[in-house]
Amino acid sequence: MSIEKIEGCNGCRACFDICPMDVIRMNEETKLAEIQYPQDCQVCNLCVVFCPVDAITINKEKYWPLMTAWG
Ligand code: SF4
Ligand code: SF4
Repeated sequence: MSIEKIEGCNGCRACFDICPMDVIRMNEETKLAEIQYPQDCQVCNLCVVFCPVDAITINKEKYWPLMTAWG
């Protein structure tokens, strides 16, 4: 159960800023997002929702829809 891969990142940092578990770090050389601590991923789906280019893939087997208080 975790974030699986990041492909096609544009370096906007949204996922880095939003991840409550600090799973994602920005590579300061490439300026792109990287998965650093996948074992800490809570599959909250926030990074997927906030990524403007759909670059983030969550392990589909353990995927569940984002639960929100407002929706
Ligand atoms: S699904 Fe949630 S915990 Fe996992 S990497 Fe994305 S924002 Fe972080
Ligand atoms: S939200 Fe998407 S485009 Fe932005 S840094 Fe993260 S993976 Fe890259």
